[in-house]
Amino acid sequence: MKTSQTFTRVVLSIVIVSLVASLGCEAMIGRIVKTAANRQASSAAQATLEDDALHVFLCGTGSPLPDADSAAACTLVVAGGKVYVVDVGPGSQEVAQLAGYPTRAVAGIFLTHFHSDHIGELGEWAMQSWANGRTGPLNVYGPEGVDRVVRGFKEAYALDDQYRIAHHSAEVMPPGATEWLAHSVPYTNGPGTKILEDGDLVVTAFAVEHEPVEPAVGYRFDYKGRSVVVSGDTDQSTNLELNAKGADLLIHEVLIKSVMTQVSHAMGERGISRLQKITMDVTDYHTSPNEAAQSANTAGVQTLVFTHLVPPVPGVIRKWLFMRDVDQGNVDVMLGEDGMTFRLPPGSDVIEID
Ligand SMILES: [Zn+2]
Ligand SMILES: [Zn+2]
Repeated sequence: MKTSQTFTRVVLSIVIVSLVASLGCEAMIGRIVKTAANRQASSAAQATLEDDALHVFLCGTGSPLPDADSAAACTLVVAGGKVYVVDVGPGSQEVAQLAGYPTRAVAGIFLTHFHSDHIGELGEWAMQSWANGRTGPLNVYGPEGVDRVVRGFKEAYALDDQYRIAHHSAEVMPPGATEWLAHSVPYTNGPGTKILEDGDLVVTAFAVEHEPVEPAVGYRFDYKGRSVVVSGDTDQSTNLELNAKGADLLIHEVLIKSVMTQVSHAMGERGISRLQKITMDVTDYHTSPNEAAQSANTAGVQTLVFTHLVPPVPGVIRKWLFMRDVDQGNVDVMLGEDGMTFRLPPGSDVIEID
C-alpha cells in the first residue's frame, strides 16, 4: 500500500474520533455514510473515463509469495472511456475498487499466462464489475487455454450468479453480464499481433520467455500516440525488447535471483527441501532488476516500472534491495507499488505519476 494511503487512513481515523467527540455517534455515522456514497459516485479514478489521456494504475505488484503490502499481478489501463485489466491476481480487485476505479467499464481482461498469481481473482473481477454496473458480457483475452480457465471460473460462479439475479432482480443485475467470452489471442515470437482495436486504442500481444510455462505473452497498449507495455512473467526477453520499442512506459516483472538463491540455500540448511527446490526453480524464468533495466534501455523506453516483486520484503528495505544493482542508463527506473497511477496525455511525452 502506498505510504500516502497509509497516511490518509491515519488522518481519517483522527478525523473520525474528533467527529464522534463533537457530533455524537449517529450524526458521525451519517457523515461517514454520505462521504462513502460521494466517493462511490465520483472520484479522481472515476474521472479517468472522461479524460483523453492514457491512464495506468498498478492494482497488484506482488507475486504468489505472501506479501502484506501488495496484491498479486495486476495492471489496469484506462483509455477512451473504457477499462482494461492485464492479469487479475488475488487481492487485485479490492485494490482497484478501494482506489475508486469504475470497474463497471471493464471492457476486457487480458491474461498473460495461467499461473495462479495472474488468474486467481477472475471470478471476483467478473462479479464485482457486474455489481458495479457492467451490463454486457465479460471479455477475457489470453493465449491458447484461456477458454478452459474461463469455463472453470464461470462454472464456479454459476450459483452465485443465480442468487444475485433472484435476490436483486434481473433489472439491477442483468443476466447478460454473466456471459463470459473467451478470446484466444494469436501471437508470435516476433512483431506483435494486433488482438484488439477499439477507437483509438490498439492492443497487441507478443511471446515472452517463461519456459517451461507455455504459452506466455506480454501486451502493448497504444492510444493516441502514447503507449504502455506489460511484460507478464518472463526471463529477460529479446522479443519483449522488440515489442517495447519506443514505449512510454514499461511495466516489467522482476525477481532478485541472487537473493532467491540465498533463500533456497537457507531452506536447504534447515532441511526444508520442498521450499529449497521451489525457490531455486523460480530463478530460471524471471528477470532480475538490472536485466529489466538493460531491456528497457535496448527498447528505448522512457520509464521502467518494476512489478511482480520477488522476494516480498518490507517497505523500508524494498526500494534499496530492488534498486541497488540497477544501472538505469537512459531510462527512468522506479519501483512499482500498489496504488501508483500514471497519466500519459496525448500530444506530449509527459508522464504524470502519483
Ligand atoms: Zn508465471
Ligand atoms: Zn507470476
